[in-house]
Amino acid sequence: MGRWVNYKRNIVQHVALAVYCKARTDCCQHTMFYTNSNLDRADHLRKDAEHLKQLRNASTTRLIPVKNGKSLVAADATAPVALMLKADAHQADIEVFLGLVDSQAYFAIDVSTMSDSEAHALALIATDAQGQQQPGLFSDLRHIGPLMPAQEGSMLAYARGLIYWNSHTTHCSRCGNTLKSVNGGHVRACTHCEHMAFPRTDPAVIMLVTHQPTNGPEICLLGRSPAFPEGVYSTLAGFVEPGESLEMAVQREVLEEASIKTTDVQYVASQPWPFPRSIMLGFHARATTTDIHCDPIELEDAQWFTKEQLLTFGNWADETEGYKLPRTDSIARYLIDLWLAGESGRFNRSTQHTH
Ligand SMILES: [Zn+2]
Repeated sequence: MGRWVNYKRNIVQHVALAVYCKARTDCCQHTMFYTNSNLDRADHLRKDAEHLKQLRNASTTRLIPVKNGKSLVAADATAPVALMLKADAHQADIEVFLGLVDSQAYFAIDVSTMSDSEAHALALIATDAQGQQQPGLFSDLRHIGPLMPAQEGSMLAYARGLIYWNSHTTHCSRCGNTLKSVNGGHVRACTHCEHMAFPRTDPAVIMLVTHQPTNGPEICLLGRSPAFPEGVYSTLAGFVEPGESLEMAVQREVLEEASIKTTDVQYVASQPWPFPRSIMLGFHARATTTDIHCDPIELEDAQWFTKEQLLTFGNWADETEGYKLPRTDSIARYLIDLWLAGESGRFNRSTQHTH
C-alpha cells in the first residue's frame, strides 16, 4: 500500500506541475534535485584576490567542509540540513569561493586530510544556516540529497564538485609540474609553464525512449546495468563522444545498448551530477523498432513497460523484492515521473506523433 500512496502523491505533484507548466513552460527544472541554488556565483570577484581574502575572513562568511567527497549535515535531524563553519574555524589547503547569498560569502574547504577525530571535533562546532549548533556527520550526498532542502542540496553538490576537481587536478597535463589554485579555486595554473586547467564537466545524455503500439497502451524502454541494486530498471544513458551532437549521442547509445532505433529526439531538461563531474542532459525519443538485443557489458536486461506496470514498481533503496525505479534525486526518475504524469507538458507530443 505504501507504494501506491507514494505514487498517488507523485502523481498529484505532477498534475500540479502540469498546471504550472502551462503557465510557465520553463518551470520543469525547478522540480529536479541539485538545480535550485540561490547562490550568486559572483564570477567578477574570483580574480580579485584582495577582495576574496577579505571575504574569506569576514565574520559572516560560512565554510562548507567536504571530507573525501562527503558533506557535513546535521546527524540527528529528521530531515538532513547542511552544516557549515565560521570563517575562523579552519584553514584548508584547498579552498574554493562558491559565491554569495545576499551579501554572505560561502567557501568550500577540503578537510580530507583530517583524521576522523579531528573532523569529528570540527563537526561539533558546525551550525545550520540559521546559526543553530547541531551535531554533525559527514555523509554521502547521494544518500541524503533527496531529503534535503533543495537549495542546500544544490550548494553541497557544487561544493563537492569543485573540491573533487581541485583535489584530483594536481599536475600540469603539458609539462608535469605542480599546479596551484588561482581565481578563488576555479582555475589551477602551472607553476612552471603557462598552462591553465579549468574545471571539467563531462556531458552525458540520458533518455526516456517510448513507443506507441497500434493497439494497446504506450510503453517505455528501461534497462538495468549490472551495477544496479537488484530489481532496479532505469532510462538508458551514456557519455557524449567527440564529434557528435547530443541528438546523435542519444540515438547511438540506445542503438548500441539495446539495438533500438529512435527518432524525434527532443531535449527535456538537464541536471548537474557532480558524482564526480557530469552534467546529465535529459531527452525523450520515440522508438521506430521494438526488438531488444542488449549489449551484455552495458545492460543485464532491458524491457518495455507500460505506465500501469511502472506504478507497481518500488524504489531504488527498497529492500523488498521485485522491480524498482531509479533514485528519486536522479534525472532518470524525473523523466520517468514526467511520462507517468502523462499530461505534464513536454511529453504530450509523444502521443501526438504516432505515424
Ligand atoms: Zn606546465
